[in-house]
Amino acid sequence: MKSAVLNHEFVEFIPKVLEDGMLYVSMTYATAAHNCCCGCGNKVITPLTPTDWKLIYDGESISITPSIGNWSFPCQSHYWIKHGKIKWSGQWSSGEIAAGRTRDLLAKKKQFKSVETAIVDEVIVAPEPLLPVKPPKGFWRRMWDKLTFSNEAD
Ligand SMILES: [Zn+2]
Repeated sequence: MKSAVLNHEFVEFIPKVLEDGMLYVSMTYATAAHNCCCGCGNKVITPLTPTDWKLIYDGESISITPSIGNWSFPCQSHYWIKHGKIKWSGQWSSGEIAAGRTRDLLAKKKQFKSVETAIVDEVIVAPEPLLPVKPPKGFWRRMWDKLTFSNEAD
């Protein structure tokens, strides 16, 4: 079932089992997590960094930018979280996925001040093969285990 709203909870550790319609925010680990808002049950981890997601808390509700594009899930959900409400967006086309990845890549390059920094705004698509910008599943699995393991150890 698609969620229309997302309530938030500030936690130190992201719980192992997430409730649908809840966004868990760990300031300690600069990470937010929620179950995909389409209801498919996949966990969506959004690291909060200058080149990943940004979280805005206005004292009542939470917004996350940019949009959540779950192109690695079968549902391929795409939505915005604005003031605790889900704004559904269209499905990702392969072109949008590529553009999103390129944008991420450029953002990362900018962040790490590579040689392209000066011209990064003019670059449309780098001719080099696109590197996987999102860490592979295994990485997140390990991160996840680490987070939840810490939780148990506490
Ligand atoms: Zn989904």
